[in-house]
Amino acid sequence: MNESSEPFILQGQAMDINYCCRCAARMEHRIPGGDDQPRPVCPVCGFIHYQNPKMVVGCIPEWGEQILLCRRNIEPRSGKWTLPAGYLENGETVQQGALRETEEETGTSVNLIEPFVMYNIVFVNQIYLLFRASLKDTRFHPTPESSEVELFTEKDIPWGLLAFPVIEQTLSRYFRDRTKETFSFRIDEIKKGN
Ligand SMILES: [Zn+2]
Repeated sequence: MNESSEPFILQGQAMDINYCCRCAARMEHRIPGGDDQPRPVCPVCGFIHYQNPKMVVGCIPEWGEQILLCRRNIEPRSGKWTLPAGYLENGETVQQGALRETEEETGTSVNLIEPFVMYNIVFVNQIYLLFRASLKDTRFHPTPESSEVELFTEKDIPWGLLAFPVIEQTLSRYFRDRTKETFSFRIDEIKKGN
């Protein structure tokens, strides 16, 4: 996850876009022709600044009975534990994004197994897609984005120190499925105040 994003601060509000990113003219906020909601529109060059949800991709890296978590070294929620995940880049598939984020945050690489869960987080305009994955080896290490990277068994998961509700729900669901010995893909929603 990169530092500039501050996903839990926007709280679903569109950012104020005051100047055109193409020609730097002052933007107007109005409903463009054929549209149904107000958007920042440039009165000079006609550019419409659309703002759409962001996709966050990542994985649950498995190593036998253990899973790999990283301790965030960046805001928001610095010091809290999370699964490796971050914003999908343009030109990237969701699988490539999940592998890249894992590498960036844990210093190691994984094989993706299958998509595990997709969460709509409408109030922050985000969609999370998390894969199950297997670690290729245990040569993970801290990175600029993670102050610690560690394997945890289910009973050692730092439940009170997880970074986001989506991580807590993903892990709960993961261990529930693992107990039943069947993993099945689901789409769910995280609501405000969860
Ligand atoms: Zn413009």
